[in-house]
Amino acid sequence: MMLRFRMVEAALNHRAVEVKAPGARPSDYFGEKVFGRNVMRKYLDKPTYEALLNTMDNGTPLSSELADSVAAGMRQWALDNGADHYTHWFQPLTGSTAEKHDSFSDPDGKGMVIETFSGKVLAQQEPDASSFPNGGIRNTFEARGYSAWDPTSPAFIVDTTLCIPTVFISYTGEALDYKVPLLRSISAVDKAATEVCRYFDKSVNSVHTYLGWEQEFFLVDESLWAARPDLMLTGRTLMGHESAKNQQLEDHYFGAIPARVINFMKELEYESHKLGIPLKTRHNEVAPNQFEVAPVYEEANLANDHNQLLMTIMDKIARHHNFRVLLHEKPFKGINGSGKHNNWSLGTDTGVNLFGPGKTASENLQFITFLVNVMAAVYRHNGLLKAAIMSATNAHRLGANEAPPAIISTFLGTQISSVLDKLERSKGDNTIRFDAKSVLKMSGVAQIPSILLDNTDRNRTSPFAFTGNRFEFRAVGASDNCAEAIITLCSATAQQLTLFKQEVDAKIESGIKKEKAIYEVLKRLIKECKNIHFDGNGYSDEWKEEAARRGLDCETSAPLLFDRYLTPETIKMFAEVGVYNKVEIEARTEVKWETYTKKIQIEARVLGDITMNHILPVASKYESILLDKAYKMKELGLKFESDLELIRNIQKSSATLQKLVTDMVEARKVANRIEDQRQRAIAYHDTVAGYLDDIRTLIDNLEEVIDDQLWPLPKYRELLFIK
Ligand code: ADP
Ligand code: MG
Repeated sequence: MMLRFRMVEAALNHRAVEVKAPGARPSDYFGEKVFGRNVMRKYLDKPTYEALLNTMDNGTPLSSELADSVAAGMRQWALDNGADHYTHWFQPLTGSTAEKHDSFSDPDGKGMVIETFSGKVLAQQEPDASSFPNGGIRNTFEARGYSAWDPTSPAFIVDTTLCIPTVFISYTGEALDYKVPLLRSISAVDKAATEVCRYFDKSVNSVHTYLGWEQEFFLVDESLWAARPDLMLTGRTLMGHESAKNQQLEDHYFGAIPARVINFMKELEYESHKLGIPLKTRHNEVAPNQFEVAPVYEEANLANDHNQLLMTIMDKIARHHNFRVLLHEKPFKGINGSGKHNNWSLGTDTGVNLFGPGKTASENLQFITFLVNVMAAVYRHNGLLKAAIMSATNAHRLGANEAPPAIISTFLGTQISSVLDKLERSKGDNTIRFDAKSVLKMSGVAQIPSILLDNTDRNRTSPFAFTGNRFEFRAVGASDNCAEAIITLCSATAQQLTLFKQEVDAKIESGIKKEKAIYEVLKRLIKECKNIHFDGNGYSDEWKEEAARRGLDCETSAPLLFDRYLTPETIKMFAEVGVYNKVEIEARTEVKWETYTKKIQIEARVLGDITMNHILPVASKYESILLDKAYKMKELGLKFESDLELIRNIQKSSATLQKLVTDMVEARKVANRIEDQRQRAIAYHDTVAGYLDDIRTLIDNLEEVIDDQLWPLPKYRELLFIK
C-alpha cells in the first residue's frame, strides 16, 4: 500500500513532560526558575543585594568585587536548582536567541573538578560571534563581539542551564543585537517624557515603557509537518490547495480548545509561570489550528525577553505533544496569518499611565499632550515604523485582507477624536482651564470620561490603535522580535517630546503662560498630524487611495521600504535620541536586505525541489495511468475523450511548471550575480518572488485533479484540523 506520510518518531528524543503537582497553584511555583528579588535576598549578603538592586533600578555600575559576590550567589542558587551549565543568552539579528553552554565544573588541578563561576564570567564574555549577522560592522572594525550582562532582566534556568540575559556588542561598542538599542530607546523616552511630565507634576523622576504582547501561532501535527519540506525548511506552505472548509464558518475563534491543544497550553503555561512569564490569556484564533497566548504587560525590556523565551520554549513543549509550532506570519494561503500585537504604554514612577485619561484637568491635559505627541511621532516616521515591522515573512500578511493594511495610521475612536476636533477648532485660551482641582474644561467637552478605559470603541483594521489606556501596534509579525517595533516607537516619541518641550519652553520664555503655551503647541500639532488619524476601514481600497492622497507611506515592497532607515530624517532622529549611530543603521539595513534575499532564495529552492521531485513525477505517473486506460479504451472502441482532456490538462501544467522552475532558477542566478545587497534584494522581490506564486497556482490546480492516493504531500484539510 502506498504510504503517503513518512511517520516520524516524534516523541522519542524528548525529555519526559514535567507535570504540575495536583492542586498546585501558580502562586506556589511562579518564578521558581528565576533569580528574582526574593531569591537574591536569600542567596546574597546584604551589601551585595543592595548594590545589585541599585544597579537594577538606577543603573549604578557594579564593582568587580560585588559582581563576584553576585556570581557566587547566583551559582549556588543555580546548583541548588539542578543547573550544571550556564550561558550568556542574547538576541542577535538572526531574530532568534543565541546561547553557548559552558559547564560550571572546572578541573581543580588535582584530578577532580570544582564548580566555578566568577563575576567576570557573569559580567562579560566573548562569544565566537563571527557567524552572526553584523551587516559589515565587524569587518570594518574589529572581529570580536562581546556579550555583557543586563542586570535589569533576571537570570533564569531552562532545563539544566542557567541563562544570563546579555547585550551583544562589537569591540568598538556598536550594537549587534536587539537589546542594546531597546535599552537605549527606553532610556531616551524616559528622559524626554520625564521632562514633559514635569510641566504637570514636579515629583515625576522617571518614565517607564511597558509592553504587553499577544502571541499568535499555529499548531500542526508533527508527523504531517515532517512530510512537508516547505513547512520544515521555510515555516510556511509554499503549495497546497485551499481546504473546502477553512474559516468560513467562523467556528474556531474563541471556540472550545481541542483536548490535545489544551494539554500543550497547560504545559506551556506551567513552564512559563515557573520562568516568571505572567501568561494570562489563551484562546483559539480565527483560523483553524490558530491560537493565541498573552501575558500581563511588563516593563518592555523584560516583556521582550519573556516573549523571546516563550517562543523558544513553546517550540520545545509542542514536541512533547507531537505538535510543531508555526510562528510564520502566513503559514497557509487563504486563511488568516499570525501577528503579535504590541500593547505599548508609558508610565511614571508616580504610578500614572501617560496614555490613560485622568480625573483632573491637569492629568487630562497631560494625557492629551502624550497622545498628540505620539500621533505626531507616528506621523513623521510612519514609513520607518512600517519598515521596522516589515520582513520577507510579514510581507505576506501586511496588506493582505485580514491583517493590518500596509499603511500606518492611528485609530483614536469617537470620543478622543471629538476631543481633539474641539481642541483644534477652539479659539482663545479661555476654552481650556488648567486648574489642578477642576476638570478639563473645553467648550462643549466635559471631562474626558474614565469610561474610555474600557475597550468599548474598537477597530480591528487599524495597524496602530489607541485602545483606552495604551496604543496597540498590531502590524508586528508573529515571529518578530518586538524590540524593533518598540525601539522605533520609543525613539520617535522621544524625539517628538523633545521638540515639543523646546517649542513650549520658547513660548514660556517669550512670556506666554505655561498652560497656554502647551495648548497652542498641541493645537498646531493636531492640525499638522491630522493625516495619520484614520478611524475608517483600513482594509478598503478607498483607504489606499486616500492614504496616498494624504501623503502617507504606501510602499509595499520590503526591500524598498528598508530605505526608510537611511533617509536623512531617520538618521537624524536616531542620532538625536542616541539610539543608533549611522554605522549601526547602515549595518542593520544591510542585514535586512540580506535576510530578505536569503529567505526568498530558500523558498525558491524548496519549491523548485518540490516541483521537480514530488509534483512532476506524480503528475507523470497519473498521466501514464490515464494514458494506459485511454489506450485500452481505444482498443475496445470506447469513448475516452474526457480522459484525454485530463491528460492534456496535466501535460500542459507539467510543461509550464517545468519551464517556470527553469526560469526561476535563471532569475536567481541573475540576482545572485548582483553584489549590492539592496539591489540583490530588489531583484529577488521583483523577479524571483513572483515565480513562487505562479508555480504554486499550477501545483494547486494539479492537486485538484490528481488521484488523492498518489498525492505526495499532506493537504490543507489534513494539516489544518486538530481534533
Ligand atoms: P485584547 O487586545 O485581545 O482585548 P487584552 O485587553 O487582554 O487583549 O490586552 C492585551 C495585552 O495588553 C495584555 O498583555 C495586557 O496586559 C496588555 N495591556 C493592558 N493594559 C496595558 C497598558 N496600559 N500598557 C501596556 N499593555 C497593556
Ligand atoms: Mg489586542
